[in-house]
Amino acid sequence: MHDRLTRTVRVTGTEPPDHVCERPSWSCRACGQPWPCPPARVSLMDGADRVMLAMYMWAHLDRAMTDLPPRSPAEFYDRFLSWTGADLVQRNPL
Ligand SMILES: [Zn+2]
Repeated sequence: MHDRLTRTVRVTGTEPPDHVCERPSWSCRACGQPWPCPPARVSLMDGADRVMLAMYMWAHLDRAMTDLPPRSPAEFYDRFLSWTGADLVQRNPL
């Protein structure tokens, strides 16, 4: 016979951590992938204005460049900005 209380055991302190970055490694606290990991990107893009998101990620990129060993600018761009979907390139109308 099952007691109803056994099925409503409170789980505390076992929540998985959010997909946020750990500095100075810039790894995800939840999954250990380079941040922003795919779940973090999905979370960040949820309802976000793309330009504001790009500006927010630019600030992270700036901090990451001081924390991480030197890499090519293209690598930082791909990791922090390319996926935001913001049209950052002003095109010449001609
Ligand atoms: Zn993650």
